[in-house]
Amino acid sequence: MQTNHQWRTARRPVGLARPSDFQWREEPIPEPGPGQFLVNILYLSLDPSNRTWLWEQQDYLPPLALGDVMGGGAIGRIEKSNHADFPVGGHVMGLFGWQEYCMHDGSGLTALLPPDPNIPLTMHYGLFGHIGLTAYFGLLDIGKPKAGETLVVSGAAGAVGSLVGQIGKIQGCRVIGIAGSDEKCKWLTSELGFDAAINYKRESVPEKLSQHCAKGIDIYFDNVGGTLLEPVLDRLNLNARIVVCGAISQYNHTAVSEFDPGPRNIFRLVTRRARMEGFLVFDYWNRAGEGIGALAQWYGQGKLKYRVDVVEGLKNAPVALNKLYDGSNAGKLIVKVV
Ligand code: NAP
Repeated sequence: MQTNHQWRTARRPVGLARPSDFQWREEPIPEPGPGQFLVNILYLSLDPSNRTWLWEQQDYLPPLALGDVMGGGAIGRIEKSNHADFPVGGHVMGLFGWQEYCMHDGSGLTALLPPDPNIPLTMHYGLFGHIGLTAYFGLLDIGKPKAGETLVVSGAAGAVGSLVGQIGKIQGCRVIGIAGSDEKCKWLTSELGFDAAINYKRESVPEKLSQHCAKGIDIYFDNVGGTLLEPVLDRLNLNARIVVCGAISQYNHTAVSEFDPGPRNIFRLVTRRARMEGFLVFDYWNRAGEGIGALAQWYGQGKLKYRVDVVEGLKNAPVALNKLYDGSNAGKLIVKVV
């Protein structure tokens, strides 16, 4: 009998998740019943928010119970099927979790991935998936960039941030990235066309923002939360926009109520008549075609560069997750399951 290897939740992590917060399990693979199909999972998407799914309190998704298969976005190939709309051999993307096989009835799966040999499967997570759409709609719909404006992006060398900065350049903005190493900063300026980059681990962010944003900041795309917001608020221009995309610096707390206190100078929003707005990419699913169309066009024109960081083996998923928090991921973090 074939075996399904899985990571199930064992404990609610305190701080960084450890492998001992998960349990490695082997289970028999069931046969699909009527209307069901069996997905052989090929790739897992590791996302910063995976850590928040381990919280006890409900956030934007229901919390996982202890003993559940660890949640996660995944791409797989249909291996057996009793569902007319999901035939054997098709590729599907969904929240299949950290396991090798998943039984499904098709609900919540929006579409089979188009079988385009020129598009690697992993790109459906990244540029042509939730990452690309987060960058696209977050910047264009919430940030509303105009040519000549100054855009500052945190988490700038990451999956979302690197695309935000490049889309900002396409829109004619001056783009400043904030990232956690000299190597990442060099990649932003020499390869992606950012105008400047700040290594927040080594340099004074307030000083460098003053140097690189002499005309003030019109848009701040915040991927990290925490203390970086304060020096940005002090440099906002009139009618500036702050796009609140994520807060990775805070996700290893046990709940939102445990996050570090917010900035002391939030009052700058009043005097600068500025707007701060959060968003979730899920709200843009009905416009995904528009976003993917634009991203594909820019990619085809060589205006967007994108990198993925692939970790081999499902067994390494718990350790790999922490690459997002220590900054050792170089691009969209993915686990190749087998
Ligand atoms: P990513 O940027 O590829 O990886 C995470 C990066 O965050 C790390 O490489 C690290 O880079 C940085 N980081 C980690 N801890 C940090 C800290 N304490 N302070 C500053 N930077 C830190 O991940 P991603 O998938 O693109 O996600 C980026 C953000 O977008 C996350 O906050 C995520 O939750 C959010 N997001 C939101 C939506 C939405 O719908 N709103 C959708 C997708 C993602 P450094 O080396 O630079 O520190």
